Amino acid sequence: MLERIGVAVTEVRQPKHLAHVERLIIPGGESTTIGRLMVLYELLEPIRARAQAGMPLWGTCAGAILMARQIADGKPGQPALELMDIVARRNAFGRQLDSFEADLLIDALGDAPMHTVFIRAPILEQPGPAVEVLAVLDDGRIVAARQNRLLASSFHPELTDDDRMHRFFLEL
Ligand code: GLN
Repeated sequence: MLERIGVAVTEVRQPKHLAHVERLIIPGGESTTIGRLMVLYELLEPIRARAQAGMPLWGTCAGAILMARQIADGKPGQPALELMDIVARRNAFGRQLDSFEADLLIDALGDAPMHTVFIRAPILEQPGPAVEVLAVLDDGRIVAARQNRLLASSFHPELTDDDRMHRFFLEL
């Protein structure tokens, strides 16, 4: 998606790669595994330090879980960045709704609804005063939020053709 927009992209797999980027996206996957690998490859502290120094950081789904101040229904001792003043409730949707799609109105992205894809997604809860809620489901549950240059989304904008969320991130 970023390449389509015309932005240079590189993968961050080791601490030295972080020096090459001015912003970072932590993708979906399994937050327990990503967290463990971040510890193993000594990326947890450097990413936290960069984000605290103002680097824009966006977590989608598992990535959002890793950014939360607290993880609900996580594995005990699950490593995380703990950067954003939200609680991420893992696998918050019941079985039939494990994965689903929805059209959401997201004010920050303009008037047209955004088609969103949720895959065993978390819900974001208890946003602190510094957190701006960006997107909610019909029942009010929070699925995207921002705190300064930190962005968290439960859904996967990279799986659609809609690049507005990516552009929003690039403007942070
Ligand atoms: N269920 C996964 C987790 O708890 C997240 C799924 C995803 O990233 N699509 O980490």
